[in-house]
Amino acid sequence: MTFTLPPLPYDEKALAPVISAETLRLHHGAHHKTYVDKLNELLEGKNVADKSLLEIVQWSAGVEARKAIFNNAAQAWNHEFYWESLTPPGPGGPVGDLAARIEKDFGGVEAARTELADAAISHFGSGWAWLVLDKRKLKVIATHDAGAPVLNGQRPLLTIDVWEHAYYVDYRNKRPDYVKAVVGKLLNWEFAAANLAAAEELAA
Ligand code: MN
Repeated sequence: MTFTLPPLPYDEKALAPVISAETLRLHHGAHHKTYVDKLNELLEGKNVADKSLLEIVQWSAGVEARKAIFNNAAQAWNHEFYWESLTPPGPGGPVGDLAARIEKDFGGVEAARTELADAAISHFGSGWAWLVLDKRKLKVIATHDAGAPVLNGQRPLLTIDVWEHAYYVDYRNKRPDYVKAVVGKLLNWEFAAANLAAAEELAA
């Protein structure tokens, strides 16, 4: 299979002023695209045409000879998930089962937002902060570089990219400003709820 860069799920101006059109254009059209292109190059001649992107991530994880493939595949997968984790600025928040689970596992949505923001801000170097389902519990984690929670048996609900390319154009070195604005205004709680429902169905 040749992988393609999926289009953004919204217009490149849709996340402004939290994330500018310039950042989205670069981040999606250059950074994300490069991971996909590089992955296709690395997979040439490998007998993996039947594998999905996630299967490539799992097949290459922890295998030294497939390290470059893993990095590019996981980054391609993580970025796809990141675009879906964001939605145009609005007052949205978790509702229904997701809201109840957040109440139970974090003590409330504000506590969950704070924990996610803290994980994203304090993560050292490049990586990702995630809201995940770990067994039956919601948790916040961070992964380094291309690290992906699926490799630990966790099911991701939302992610925030904390590589510098995600915020440097708009926020320079001020990662906390980027993270707080994203956590406060852009998180796609409907996407998180759908991921929770799908994960619960698998576990049932
Ligand atoms: Mn990125």
